[in-house]
Amino acid sequence: MRNVIISREELRPFAKGDSLADLTKALLNQQKTSWELLRKNYESLNKIEIKTFSFDGFEIKVQFNPGRITSSTAKVDAASIKARKCFLCLENLPEGQRGIPFNEDYLILANPYPIFREHFTIPSLIHQPQYLKPAINDLLKLSKELGKYYVVFYNGPKAGASAPDHLHFQAGEKNFLPLYIEINKLKGEKLLEYYVNHNFTLYHSKDYLRNLFLIESSDANKIKKAIESILDSLQEFTDLDEEPMINILSFFEGEKWKIIVIPREKHRPDYYFNEGEEQILFSPASVDLGGVCITPREEDFKKISADILVDALKQVTIPQEKFLRVLARLKDVCKIYC
Ligand SMILES: [Zn+2]
Repeated sequence: MRNVIISREELRPFAKGDSLADLTKALLNQQKTSWELLRKNYESLNKIEIKTFSFDGFEIKVQFNPGRITSSTAKVDAASIKARKCFLCLENLPEGQRGIPFNEDYLILANPYPIFREHFTIPSLIHQPQYLKPAINDLLKLSKELGKYYVVFYNGPKAGASAPDHLHFQAGEKNFLPLYIEINKLKGEKLLEYYVNHNFTLYHSKDYLRNLFLIESSDANKIKKAIESILDSLQEFTDLDEEPMINILSFFEGEKWKIIVIPREKHRPDYYFNEGEEQILFSPASVDLGGVCITPREEDFKKISADILVDALKQVTIPQEKFLRVLARLKDVCKIYC
């Protein structure tokens, strides 16, 4: 098999420093010089259109990105998954793609179909299902190491992951997401403190178009307990053999994590399944809920309005009544562990 792993020596001409974040940045630059498909797709990203909708103190952007059609319309039912070659398995990676090992369990790869100007996919080296609970520590460690430049995010197997059969995270520049910029600005307005203890704060959103939790702490164990509690509460509304639908965005800065947890109600809004003129191919995952909604077809980009966005985000995220139940349970768990 060809050598997929790229060495530090090969990355050095592209790197400004030795940290994993710097090497990751260097990987993308290296790939732009050696992999034509990737170079072209990042070049196309400079030309794509974006429109911005302003709401009460925050923004949602819409990006017209034709390169994302495969991901947005990915068939993730068991039969379709079984019928295709797994594109995240090492032996199926495209010619030209190279990667940096992380933790001896994962490989950091430049994403050849980017949303971000710097976009990475981080698959497990082993083909195993997308499943968060045993991988929470990996998510935290990875986001700490990449936090200087990047947000690390997780799309649940039924919540936007286009490879639900192969455990993976993604990463992109954190400044790109309106949510990142809004986290501090909206505290006390749209993000309300719910539980505070030594080195741990839990916030919940209010009137922010999507019900979400923000956990801030420098204690990985406390964060892990909180995420597990959210998953356990959501499990009550879900089949036992399925992970509850969830998206997570993990930032690390100022020596602490800022974790956004977004419980989901639906994989795709009704607009996705409408026919003809009424159809809008919008299939939200972490990035969309972070404030950059992707439309791979131009007609959808033109059609999408503030009202449609409000309605679509409401459809795919957890309704208020369930949200409050999860929140109440979470407070009880936090009182013991956080
Ligand atoms: Zn695989």
